[in-house]
Amino acid sequence: MSVNLQTPIDYLKGVGPNRADLLRSELGIKTYQDLLNLFPNRYIDRTRYYKINELHRNNAEVQVIGTIIGFREVAQKRGKRLVADFKDNTGMMELVWFRGQKWIRESLKIGKPYVIFGRTNWFNGRYSMPHPEIELQSEQDSNLRSAMQAIYPSTEKLSNKGITNKVVSKIMQQLFLETKGAFFETLPKETINDLKLLSKSEALLNVHFPKSPELLARAQFRLKYEELFYIQLQLILKNLIHKSKIKGLKFNKVGTYFNTFFKDHLPFELTNAQKRVLKEIRADLGSNAQMSRLLQGDVGSGKTIVAFMSMLMGLDNDFQCCLMAPTEILSVQHYNGLLELCKPLNIKISLLTGSTKTSKRKKIHENLENGNLQILVGTHALLEDKVKFQNLGLAIIDEQHRFGVAQRKKLWDKTSVQILKNDDENSSSNSASYASSKKIVPPHILVMTATPIPRTLAMSVYGDLDISVIDELPAGRKAIKTVHRYDSNRLKVFKFMKDEIAKGRQIYVVYPLIQESEHMDYKDLMDGYESIVREFPQPNYQISIVHGKMKPADKEFEMQRFVKGETQIMVATTVIEVGVNVPNASVMVIESAERFGLSQLHQLRGRVGRGAEQSYCILMTSHKLGENSKTRLETMVRSSDGFEIAEVDLKLRGPGDIMGTQQSGVLNLRIADVVKDKDILQEARYQAKKILGTDPALSLPQHQAILNTYREMSKYKNIWNYIS
Ligand code: ADP
Ligand code: MG
Repeated sequence: MSVNLQTPIDYLKGVGPNRADLLRSELGIKTYQDLLNLFPNRYIDRTRYYKINELHRNNAEVQVIGTIIGFREVAQKRGKRLVADFKDNTGMMELVWFRGQKWIRESLKIGKPYVIFGRTNWFNGRYSMPHPEIELQSEQDSNLRSAMQAIYPSTEKLSNKGITNKVVSKIMQQLFLETKGAFFETLPKETINDLKLLSKSEALLNVHFPKSPELLARAQFRLKYEELFYIQLQLILKNLIHKSKIKGLKFNKVGTYFNTFFKDHLPFELTNAQKRVLKEIRADLGSNAQMSRLLQGDVGSGKTIVAFMSMLMGLDNDFQCCLMAPTEILSVQHYNGLLELCKPLNIKISLLTGSTKTSKRKKIHENLENGNLQILVGTHALLEDKVKFQNLGLAIIDEQHRFGVAQRKKLWDKTSVQILKNDDENSSSNSASYASSKKIVPPHILVMTATPIPRTLAMSVYGDLDISVIDELPAGRKAIKTVHRYDSNRLKVFKFMKDEIAKGRQIYVVYPLIQESEHMDYKDLMDGYESIVREFPQPNYQISIVHGKMKPADKEFEMQRFVKGETQIMVATTVIEVGVNVPNASVMVIESAERFGLSQLHQLRGRVGRGAEQSYCILMTSHKLGENSKTRLETMVRSSDGFEIAEVDLKLRGPGDIMGTQQSGVLNLRIADVVKDKDILQEARYQAKKILGTDPALSLPQHQAILNTYREMSKYKNIWNYIS
């Protein structure tokens, strides 16, 4: 092939320097390759021509053939508009331009047959088409035509500067002319045959100039497959490289801590899923590679005990461990829970949060550095520079969705630097060379999340992490009964609450506080609190309240009253969303439930159903509900499966709102869509795994195409700078 696809776009005939600049700045198109990868947003049927007397007032996109019989300028509030009277043998309509009038006026000719395309308006008793696509009929006949016309992504600036869809389409044609439409095949023959894919050249031609709807569909499939395949290939390769390159701290033995706990102190029988996940973690920790593992498990599936037992593996090998949680309340809760588990084993554990007193804090810093402290639990406070471990072996992050990727990285950096330092001290002979070779031994990292990310998305977002899933709840859990009630039924709900309290149960009432500063929300909360205080008067009833404007100590005090059973009702904002564990609480009332997202609702519901009693979740809403809200509420009532709920959530919101996706390449997909094309994604991942499984270096002749493409991609692209 004579034309190199890395040729700057300026060299393409029809793209002068001005257009090249615009294409670069507006669409990021720098090379022939980039233009080729500008995939259409949609296609329109250009086989049908309308007569003017066939137009309807439905604002549809139509194509009409006719001639311009004259131009008029019409003054309007600001400036003027250019109007062309356009006629065919059935009637008259107007073409209207608000911008670029001079250029239009000079380039369009009166009396010549034109094909116009665009949306029509009904205005002043006539049809008009603002800013139509317009070309001479003779020109249209000679073009590389296809039944379906590609509509390309554009920007206002581009269309203002005359780079219309027609122009882009023409440039694209030119590209196919210059390259003769022959492009390197990027997938192995075997894959093409197995999946009956179009060749690269056929696919590109048909995605830009479809010969038929069938060929378009096949072209899109092939290109989506290819895109997802290479992403998966990169992620899997990255993971393989990570495993071979990043040396891990080897936890050789399973020792006294783990064994004693397992034999004598385990409070319950582990579920099979918990056992399986522990084995997976054990295998990681015992290997030479650094663990980077994501542990997904629905609310209440028992991730904490898995975290604790993993830490015991660390302690058995004389390493320190830490557990970081996103909120003060959750850290305290974890600390209290773990403290109980640590007691019989004589393990030294501390809590470090933003409200830890300075004297205490100093002591903790000291004990971390001299190795007296074995487990540190806390919030972001763990990330502060002053916190230095003697030998951190395992860092666990709970409820990952609250932490950004940057924080994960910080934990890594900070601790690895620390370990580097220690090693320097020990190996005085060659410490300089050691440091300069930057051979760092980071701690193992386990990320736990209770907001399951659909598997398909997880593959894209966290494809470089290994994933473990606890897909089983502890035995004996009763399903939580979930109902949707309107505000008008509040009295019945109050009655129900009283009955449950009479049975000895406790109740959460949660208000949305989307932004802790939002005045309205705060007022809702206080109004709600007052009405509950009125409805549930002392001394029969005791009520706690917790919200973001309270001091941590006050929050903690109120939480503890509820945990100890001194109060029956906990009125709260979403601060309780994450991880709080009060087994006796069996009713969760969520106010203005329509304002919560699905994963948040699911999280909140997970606060109940932790004890032996039947639990309930009541979703309160007003009568006014949008479609989206209805779907969310119906999903909650129907399903208790976090993964299923996450799938619905993903469909409703798209991947953009899901944590972690911003940093990954999922949103930069050019043609595929992680939600809609998840089957293709799965197939692509399977194939990529299979190929790398047999040929990790891609050295076999049949994988030459993959190797070449992969190299090209890594050379010209840099979207894969995830952490690690
Ligand atoms: P999550 O995965 O949401 O963090 P937790 O670890 O807080 O869940 O566990 C929820 C509750 O289930 C806790 O009270 C815990 O003690 C209990 N639990 C965990 N594993 C088991 C098990 N295998 N059998 C019985 N109860 C369990
Ligand atoms: Mg938890």
